[in-house]
Amino acid sequence: MDSTDPITIQRKQFFIDSIARFCDKCGTPYTVDDINIVQNTGMSTIIHFSCHNCKSKHIATLVSPLGVTQRVPLNTDLEESEISRFLPQKGFSTQDVLDVYEELKKQKAIKV
Ligand SMILES: [Zn+2]
Repeated sequence: MDSTDPITIQRKQFFIDSIARFCDKCGTPYTVDDINIVQNTGMSTIIHFSCHNCKSKHIATLVSPLGVTQRVPLNTDLEESEISRFLPQKGFSTQDVLDVYEELKKQKAIKV
């Protein structure tokens, strides 16, 4: 993946701003060099955060239409190219996202 084009850098900056500005462990601010976009299906994006200071790694998933993010610590030395091997090839389908959306809508209605 070409990580030097301006669009990619812009996207990475967006992920830093919207998911994690600082390392959970040492508080060092992330830079675009610490971010790797592992998988991008259009509906969902999987982002690999790697702290340049303490080397701790995080994986974040972002489901675009819902703005749902999930961030999990990654206690391995896997590089982002290795991680993608463990990911399901398909990622999220449009229907999956719609299902979640419908579920959320229902729950909101029931809640009151
Ligand atoms: Zn750190």
